[in-house]
Amino acid sequence: MTEPLRVLFVTPEIAPWVKAGGLGDVAQALPAALAQAGVDARVLVPAYRPLKSAFAQARRVCAFAAPGGALADAGLRLTDDPGVPLYLLECDAYFDRPGGPYQSPENQDWADNHLRFGLLSRIASLAGTRGFDGWRPDLIHCNDWQGGLAPAYLARESGAHAASVMTVHNLAYQGLFAPELLPALGLPPALQASETLELWGRISFLKAGLRYADGLTTVSPTYAREIQGAELGFGLEGLLRERNDVLTGILNGIDTRTWDPARDAFLAERYDASSLERKRANAQALRSELGLAARAAAPLVGMIARLVEQKGADLVIQIAPELLRAGAQLAVLGQGEARFENALRALAAQHPGAVAARIGFDEGLAHRIEAGADLFLMPSRFEPCGLNQLYSMRYGTPPVVRRTGGLADSVRDPDEAPPDEACGFVFDAPDADALLAALRRALAAFRDPAAWRRLQTNGMHADFSWTASAAAYLEVYRRAIAARDAARAAARAG
Ligand code: ADP
Repeated sequence: MTEPLRVLFVTPEIAPWVKAGGLGDVAQALPAALAQAGVDARVLVPAYRPLKSAFAQARRVCAFAAPGGALADAGLRLTDDPGVPLYLLECDAYFDRPGGPYQSPENQDWADNHLRFGLLSRIASLAGTRGFDGWRPDLIHCNDWQGGLAPAYLARESGAHAASVMTVHNLAYQGLFAPELLPALGLPPALQASETLELWGRISFLKAGLRYADGLTTVSPTYAREIQGAELGFGLEGLLRERNDVLTGILNGIDTRTWDPARDAFLAERYDASSLERKRANAQALRSELGLAARAAAPLVGMIARLVEQKGADLVIQIAPELLRAGAQLAVLGQGEARFENALRALAAQHPGAVAARIGFDEGLAHRIEAGADLFLMPSRFEPCGLNQLYSMRYGTPPVVRRTGGLADSVRDPDEAPPDEACGFVFDAPDADALLAALRRALAAFRDPAAWRRLQTNGMHADFSWTASAAAYLEVYRRAIAARDAARAAARAG
């Protein structure tokens, strides 16, 4: 028997303990799917406060003395979960804090984020050279800018080391810092050059990953193409075009156990494609939870998102009055920019019983909106993959989405797809008129019960599991290892 491939998945967040967005879900699900496929997959994640308390018994496997000269007193604890073991990167000065993984309770970026995630990257690269306690990964899979320096550290190693793959979950977050910080990160000032880490006059952790990793992926095929253009490339399009031979788009799967209307403990009533009538009970329960009028026949439109321009929060606010005039109710859950939070609160106050705005993060309510809504809104200006449209399809709640990134790759419109594949509504222009036109088409379809049920069941039967995506990642890992071997052979020959 051949040895299983050893992969270290490096992530700044992991559901259910610490989650700021879709990456948290991916970090929970992808390593588990890889383990299912026979990979020896382990996760490296900072020991934030919720992880420390969830795994208080985890055993200490190594300690690091001042890695990179950054600080003293870091160590790793290993959970003995039989599925996917977690290496918790302990450094209380950096990670044992209130607030989120990247921001304070006041939503300010932590001032030492470069050191916090420089340390994460540094320890990941140590895994790839020395290993942890006898376990050395064949490959390090870094995610987003927070892990971006790891491939740069590895590239500076002359000895044998792990191959690396860098996944971009959202290119807009680039990990930009002052170039003067390079020495504190254990890197030479010469890396402040446009061929290496420099971006917009600063240094970018994400660019480091994109420059030095052996393989690159992003979370949908369409987004992989879009980020090679100026509009969504955010200054990195040139580098991405240069390296597009190693760039692959792989659509995220979803955790089909957590997001399963037939087993979801958050719901008033569980249901599947053969018992869709029970979805109505969830709609009524949601109306009463949110203080919406008990208008059972009114289409209930849901949205769950970070309230930022990327997600089209402004578009939803603009079209809300028209939506209400068309007889719909609107339920929004989200948090983000104060201007959008306030506008949504104002809408709810102006239209009691018709608009509900819950400002905050609420996992249970997110499940109940997916189940209770009739339609789901996702008018993103760009969307690397998007998870909520996948959840909504699985919950029999057809989404209305903009044709971008993973939305374009996962949602098929009845005007364009065969009747047994259509599962939502797609529009093109990033403006309120286009969104409203798509919503009107959706509301018309909603009034035709047979057509509507077909859309619902098509989405519910689609396969959004991680199995296919995990196989695609395995192929990327194999190619990255081959690329590293080829580079090493070339260096020896040269
Ligand atoms: P992104 O990662 O860009 O925020 P995704 O659609 O890929 O967007 O993933 C968002 C994830 O976060 C989903 O699991 C979604 O349900 C969840 N989410 C976003 N905002 C909230 C919120 N306010 N409350 C609960 N869950 C939320």
